[in-house]
Amino acid sequence: MLRPLLEADVIARRITELAVEIRRTYGDQPIVVCGVLKGGVPFMADLIRHLSGAVEIEFLGVSSYAGTETTGAVRITHDLKRDIAGQDVLLVEDIVDTGLTLDWLRRTLGARGPRSLRIATLLDKPERRRVEVVVDFVGFTIPDRFVVGFGLDLNERYRNLPYIAEVVEGP
Ligand code: 5GP
Repeated sequence: MLRPLLEADVIARRITELAVEIRRTYGDQPIVVCGVLKGGVPFMADLIRHLSGAVEIEFLGVSSYAGTETTGAVRITHDLKRDIAGQDVLLVEDIVDTGLTLDWLRRTLGARGPRSLRIATLLDKPERRRVEVVVDFVGFTIPDRFVVGFGLDLNERYRNLPYIAEVVEGP
């Protein structure tokens, strides 16, 4: 059963605020916005449309989860199509949970020599953190619940929900 946690209008307002905060942080520098596939796509699509100034978009595919369990292993399933050396890179994630994926991504992309590398996540579940990671822009901090919608899936379902819901036991 799905129990709504964050309604579409609440998410939309927060993303608009984040875009303003992000642009203020970068000044008038061009930003290479890298969306993490697949979950980060709806958030990224909304974010970039509220981000003023020069923005390029890229996608990075990683695989780390099977069902609701972490496997710990991260691998790149789709790499960036441009060199990020010397660029101001903003990585856009759906959710930071244990932090393992992000920690790996920070190290991997950091090694490519970007001028700066910052992270924006729509959701943060700090209670489950297993490794310390710096997250620069957070949409919402949520409790330790498994959520779907707005890009987030349960075995590839529910990514298209326009809101975020908690998956609870029941019919
Ligand atoms: P981490 O490496 O931080 O544990 O996990 C990050 C990834 O785990 C996310 O990008 C997402 O794919 C998946 N994940 C973590 N928590 C949730 C959740 O509550 N719902 C869904 N659908 N995926 C989650």
